[in-house]
Amino acid sequence: MNCLFCKIVEGSIPSKALYQDELCYAFADINPQAPTHVLVVPRQHISSLAEATDNDTPLVGHMVSAAAEIARAGGLSKGYRVVINTGDDGGQTVDHLHVHLLGGRPLTWPPG
Ligand code: 5GP
Ligand code: ZN
Repeated sequence: MNCLFCKIVEGSIPSKALYQDELCYAFADINPQAPTHVLVVPRQHISSLAEATDNDTPLVGHMVSAAAEIARAGGLSKGYRVVINTGDDGGQTVDHLHVHLLGGRPLTWPPG
């Protein structure tokens, strides 16, 4: 399968791990939208949140908890945002489920 984030997880495209465990892998976004912009992806290929099944519920929760742990470790004590863009209207551009962790500046709402 020709999936960018699968290649990053496998290491065939190099990246610096910011966090990793048996279920997920985290690395810096190549085009950061905030001083901290980390992507947390499952090691297993799931195309999007819309494709996740009931079986994936613990995994999705684990990814969100991993984002919170990265935020704690990274000193984002003033807050941060966790986002899962899903599908075309959601602005998803890479078809491998990922959690964005954004922080290090005040973030506006609503998003575009
Ligand atoms: P989406 O738009 O699907 O929610 O997020 C995809 C994210 O992946 C974007 O923020 C984009 O900057 C990031 N991205 C795309 N290609 C690469 C890459 O090759 N390496 C890294 N580290 N991030 C990437
Ligand atoms: Zn993949």
